[in-house]
Amino acid sequence: MIKFQDIAKEYNDLMVLSNINLEIKEGEFLFLVGPSGAGKTTLIKLLIREELPTAGEIYYDSWEVSKLPHQQLPQLRREIGVVFQDFKLLPQKTALENVRFVLDVIGKNPEEQEELAPEILKLVNLERQKDHFPHQLSGGEKQRLAIARALAAEPKVLIADEPTGMIDPASAWNLINLLNKINELGATVIMATHNAAIVDTLKRRVVELNEGRIVRDQKEGGYAAS
Ligand code: ADP
Repeated sequence: MIKFQDIAKEYNDLMVLSNINLEIKEGEFLFLVGPSGAGKTTLIKLLIREELPTAGEIYYDSWEVSKLPHQQLPQLRREIGVVFQDFKLLPQKTALENVRFVLDVIGKNPEEQEELAPEILKLVNLERQKDHFPHQLSGGEKQRLAIARALAAEPKVLIADEPTGMIDPASAWNLINLLNKINELGATVIMATHNAAIVDTLKRRVVELNEGRIVRDQKEGGYAAS
C-alpha cells in the first residue's frame, strides 16, 4: 500500500534521509522511533507530498506520490490523514465546528454534518466538550480533537506524529487505545513516538530511524533494539 524506494532527502546540502526502503501493508500498525532529528517527520511529509524527495520513489497504492498532478493532492491527503504535533485546530471554532468544517470540505451536506460530527466526537470521547473552543481543552483533549478532524475525512491511513509528547501518561494510554480501535476498524496506523512504555507494551512493528537511515525494522519490536 505504501512503498518508499531508495529515498533520499536533502535540505540545503544536509542529508536528512538516505537509502530509505520501506513497505507498509494495508491494516498495519507501525511505530516509527528514533531520536529527535532522525528524520521521522520528514518521512511523513514526503508521504503526503508536503516535501519532495531528492532521490527515489514513493508509492501509495498505484500512485507515484512525487508525480501526482497537483489536483490530486487533496485526494492523497484525504486518504492519508496526519495529526502533527501542533494539532492545526481552528482556534475560533468549537470542537464540534472543527469537525464539521472538515466534513464540509470533503463535501458532506449540512444534514450529514449534523449527524456525523457528534458521532466522530463520541468516538474520541469528546461529546461533553463539543462546545468548547480549543483553548478550553486540555492537551489530551486537543490531541483527540485533532484525531477527530483527521477521522472526519475517513482516511485509509492515519499518521500521528509524537502524539503522546505533550500529554500525561493516562491520556497517552487513552490515545493509544483510540489508535488501536481505529486500526481495528481497518485503517493503517503509523505512530512516530518517543514513548518507550507504549512501544514496549504494544509489541507492534517497529521501524527505527537514526541519522536519516533505517537501522531496524522489527516485527513485534520494543522501543530499543533487543
Ligand atoms: P524527527 O521528526 O525525527 O525529529 P525531522 O524529520 O523533523 O526529524 O528532522 C530531520 C532533520 O532535518 C533535522 O536535522 C532537521 O533539522 C532537518 N530539517 C527538517 N525540516 C527542515 C527544513 N524545512 N529545512 C532544513 N532542515 C530541515
